[in-house]
Amino acid sequence: MTDTITDDLFREDARLTECQARVLTLDERGIVLDRTVFYPLGGGQAGDVGLLRLADGREIAIADTRKGGTPGEILHLPASGADLSGLKVGDSVTAVIDWQRRHRHMRFHTATHLLCALVPHPVDGCSITADYARLDFHMTEPLDKELLSAGIARLVAEAHAVGHRWISEDELDARPELVRSMSVQPPRGQGRVRVLEIDGVDLQPCGGTHVANTAEIGAVLVTKIEKKSAKTRRVVLGFASAAPAALTAPVTVTPAPPAPPAPPDASAA
Ligand SMILES: [Zn+2]
Repeated sequence: MTDTITDDLFREDARLTECQARVLTLDERGIVLDRTVFYPLGGGQAGDVGLLRLADGREIAIADTRKGGTPGEILHLPASGADLSGLKVGDSVTAVIDWQRRHRHMRFHTATHLLCALVPHPVDGCSITADYARLDFHMTEPLDKELLSAGIARLVAEAHAVGHRWISEDELDARPELVRSMSVQPPRGQGRVRVLEIDGVDLQPCGGTHVANTAEIGAVLVTKIEKKSAKTRRVVLGFASAAPAALTAPVTVTPAPPAPPAPPDASAA
């Protein structure tokens, strides 16, 4: 059995900072776990970094997270020079993300949805990092930096609830206006599509990680507007201050992993 689908716990709960997991595969491509809190690069959002803690307490630094070659496979990329000796398929590990960094992704990512609500044009590019986010809009009209910053600040101050749900592909087909991105189409074939809803503000398919309320975004500003091409306006977002404005402690609920098959010699645990 070479099932390497990773249970993507972050999809249902973006606030999980760690989880117990088991190594499914381990090769030059990276480490695949049966479940993870690590978000893989996708939808413009950077992949998570963090560490895998082994049963003996040793830690393997994870420098990036990527989607694997098969659908549902998530690769944890060890930092260069990481010592993987002793790690093998079937081992239990604790997967821990760099939460400070991820929370910045979540704040920026949610802010890009606010931007989508303020700029009613198709999106043809997106990049979300811990230090900035940028969104490219397919449009020719000029955009006003101060006006957009004020619009974001208003939506943050209004404290709109943010949540996700799943809709059927049929429902999505019936509402093509929901798909704002020209470059990235929502994943198909599962029969359902994840949509992100910011109450009263924005609704669109999205598989990324977000904060739970727009208030948690804190002070985000439009730092730059660029004319990337005749038909593209790039909006760059930054944090107003280095200190996270609304960093709330994550609620870490780590559900117990499914029990692994008992080893022949259970005393080894
Ligand atoms: Zn999103």
